[in-house]
Amino acid sequence: MPHYDYPVKSKLPLLGLTIFATMSQLAAEHKAINLSQGFPDFETNEELIASVNTYMKSGFNQYAPMPGVMKLREAISAKTFDLHSINYSPETEITITSGGTQAIYTVMVSCIQEGDEVIIFEPAYDCYVPAVKLHGGIPVLIELEYPSYSINWKEVIKRVTSKTKMIVLNNPGNPSASVLGEDDIKQLQKITAGTGILILSDEVYEHIIFDNHQHLSMARYQDLANRSFIVASFGKLLHTTGWKIGYCLAPANLMAEFRKVHQFMVFSVNTPIQYAIADFLAKRENYLNLSEFYQQKRDYFIQFMKPTKFQLLPVAGSYFQLATYKKISEENDYEFCVKLVKEHGVAAIPVSAFYGRPTNYKTIRFCFAKKPDTILAAVERLSKL
Ligand code: GLN
Repeated sequence: MPHYDYPVKSKLPLLGLTIFATMSQLAAEHKAINLSQGFPDFETNEELIASVNTYMKSGFNQYAPMPGVMKLREAISAKTFDLHSINYSPETEITITSGGTQAIYTVMVSCIQEGDEVIIFEPAYDCYVPAVKLHGGIPVLIELEYPSYSINWKEVIKRVTSKTKMIVLNNPGNPSASVLGEDDIKQLQKITAGTGILILSDEVYEHIIFDNHQHLSMARYQDLANRSFIVASFGKLLHTTGWKIGYCLAPANLMAEFRKVHQFMVFSVNTPIQYAIADFLAKRENYLNLSEFYQQKRDYFIQFMKPTKFQLLPVAGSYFQLATYKKISEENDYEFCVKLVKEHGVAAIPVSAFYGRPTNYKTIRFCFAKKPDTILAAVERLSKL
């Protein structure tokens, strides 16, 4: 007997499956090389896996404390001090989460109330807008300049109102691959000074920064850190997106609100992995060498893509390469990506999926967190277009 179709009033009536799930599914169906959803196709460090295993075998298999294993919070505190010369208290200012997305959602649940305006820059990572809307917030969408993907601060000043509750930053940006500079920081400081505006700074690609760029974390600026939730991801740092583990940093008063929600949303995150990561972070090179590692992959991708008709945009950070296909097709980016999977065996992400309004930049996103062979095989297919 079929299930009775119980009438449901959707809280997100216009929303379907995420573009990442959609494209990965299509890639699997068509046995395409998947450069769409961002995840590495190589393994994490063997010692790290062995260490998780050891902790499991040694009986570290029950609930972790609600904010996370203390040893890991201490390791994060030390790493943050090492990188940004700021102290985050392991007791009150660091919480381990089940990945970046959960941390972002928890921030929204903790802070956003009916009618609050939240400034979000587009192209925007897909989870920001729904998380704001689900809590009665109003996303205030501001487009980054194309193709530099820089912030138009004059526009931001115009759009800040007495209802502005939060500014969401994504640095390095996904999918923009751009990073904030000192000028951006100054503008942000000016705009927020003397206001109660909070910042949600999604810094999950913090360790993947190229050329002479620096990662200007909100943690580096006391006035901004005071109003910021900073979100980080071990999935990106350790090539373990399937482990779903990350963390959030915030001053104690903000973190107290975060934890009120976290304790009922997830309660705590898996124990043995937290212990193993704590040990792993003790070696600085385990997080400091990542940019170099990915810069090689980026450069390899750029070099091999040169003979194709795709035009590549600059990549300052993250493991994503944006490309335009204006010389290949007039189609919109979604149609183009579907055809790319079905007819050419390569999956990518249409960048229009990251905007609230229809756009036609003819730009798509490739993930280059892949083995050289994967990149080579994909580019071979792309060069036929
Ligand atoms: N962060 C990944 C990306 O940008 C996707 C993660 C997910 O599918 N939710 O591709």
